[in-house]
Order: sequence, then structure tokens, then C-alpha cells
Amino acid sequence: MQINSPISKITLEGRDFYVKRDDLIDPYLAGNKYRKLYTLLQTPANKFSKIISYGGTQSNAMLAIAAMCKAKKWKFTYYTKPISQNQKDENIGNYFHSIKLGMQHVEIEHEFYRDFIASLRLNLDEKTFVIDQGGAVQQAKEGLRVLADEIRALNLHVKSLATPSGTGTTALFLALTLPEYKVYTTPCVGDVAYLKEQMSMLHDIPNNLIILKPEKKYHFAKPYLEFLEIQKKLLECEIEFDLLYAPGLWKCLLEQTDEEIIYIHSGGVTGNESMLKRYEQKGLKP
Ligand SMILES: *Cc1c(COP(=O)(O)O)cnc(C)c1O
Repeated sequence: MQINSPISKITLEGRDFYVKRDDLIDPYLAGNKYRKLYTLLQTPANKFSKIISYGGTQSNAMLAIAAMCKAKKWKFTYYTKPISQNQKDENIGNYFHSIKLGMQHVEIEHEFYRDFIASLRLNLDEKTFVIDQGGAVQQAKEGLRVLADEIRALNLHVKSLATPSGTGTTALFLALTLPEYKVYTTPCVGDVAYLKEQMSMLHDIPNNLIILKPEKKYHFAKPYLEFLEIQKKLLECEIEFDLLYAPGLWKCLLEQTDEEIIYIHSGGVTGNESMLKRYEQKGLKP
């Protein structure tokens, strides 16, 4: 597996950007999920026999964990709330690929879900490891330190970075390990206050981390024509980005910054197939 991801230079709306190609690390285990799982990936395969996680069935983290478990020959059990038969029957998207990689999917009824997740760590044997939703783990630190080393080693004159936020783990640890860089991010799930709250649970937010506020309120994983349009412009630069996180940040960067920036590609392009289908169903076309 390729560790040191390459860098591309693109021109978007007349501005130069560098893109750290973490999307090219692996088809399924890529982007910030690769960085977050880095410590586990370095763990000898015989240390664990089973990984447990939970969350949404379109999640990029789920697919990355499934790919890791396949490579390590670890069993992978993933808990979710009940999902539709339609989704189970789909032959595209993250869920489909995760099942193909050997993921065991278990549905938990809504009324029991919360308590069930809260009790996951009770009575665990030492060969089982639980990864919390989205992989928001302290272990993410080590993988992001490796990414930080790669960025420093580029020796570019550019001193601004950008990466989109869900939990904010990636942006936060990146800013902490690279204090000499500015790190731009924006909340793609919830608003600025929610993102700050999430980050603060992990660490104090450093001054070099700049949270850009989107000009319009976007709901996570909903189709927006302007997201599709910006993704298309980026495709013309020959890089595919995901449709959930990247477009929101690119919009903020174009609207609210003017310097050269290194954008850290956070992966997630495997989710585009099913997302594009939803755009189509809504009749949205660029
Ligand atoms: C998970 C994910 C994010 C969010 O990462 P956090 O560390 O939770 O902020 C951003 N982009 C993509 C493509 C992702 O899959």
C-alpha cells in the first residue's frame, strides 16, 4: 500500500491550488479514514480477531474499516439502525462494497440502539476492538502526524492547508501537528458551534485552525445543485472529489480566502455513485 501520497496542482476559477492526493492511497481505504486508521493498520494482524463499529450505512469510515479488516483477516461487525430492503439490494455504494469485503451487518431496532451502542465495550475480550462512529479516535493522531510529516517534506512555499470537517478530528489534529501552517476547514455536518463543541471534546482549538462559516446553511448528505457544479469544475481539473464534504469547503475557500492553499483530499469518492443517483432522482443536473 502506497503511504506517501502524491501532490497535484490545479487551477480552479483562475486560482492555483495544490491537492494532497490521499484519495489515491487505496480505492476503499483512502483519504482521512486511512490516516485515522493508521495506528490500527500498523498493528500486527494477530493482535485482534474482530473489529466492531457502528453508524450510518453510507459511511466512508465503514467502508475503510471493511477494507482494513479484509486485509488483516479480522472479522468486522457493523451495527446500524434498521435499513430499507432497497438499500440492501443496491449494487452500488459504500454499503454494497463493504458487504462484498466481508462486513457482517447487524441491525438494531431504534428503541434499543442507544443503549446497545453504549454497552458495546462491556464484556469485550482482548482480541476485539471497538471503533467509535466515524473513527473519531485519539489514535487518529499518529496517522495525522505522518500526514503532517509528508506535508512538511513537500517544502512548498504555501503555508495554508484545507480539509473539510465532519467530526473535525482530521482538521484539529492537523492544525495541532502543523502549528506553522494555517488550517482551513468548514462544518459539513451541523453548524460552526456544533463543530467547535465536537473538537473541544478532543482538545483545545488552536489559533491556527480557521473555521469558515458557509454562506448558506446546508444539510448533510442532501443534494445541492451548486455542490454538483463545483464537483464538475473540479472534475475538469481531473480530480474527483466526494459530494458530501468537499464541495462545501471548496465554496468557502473560493469565497472567503485568496492565498495559495494545499487542499488535503479526504477521500470518499466511492460514495459518489449512490449520491449521483439521488441527484438524478431529484432531477438535478449541472
Ligand atoms: C469522514 C470524512 C470527512 C470528515 O472527517 P472528520 O475527521 O470527521 O472531520 C471529510 N471528508 C470525507 C470525504 C470523509 O469521508
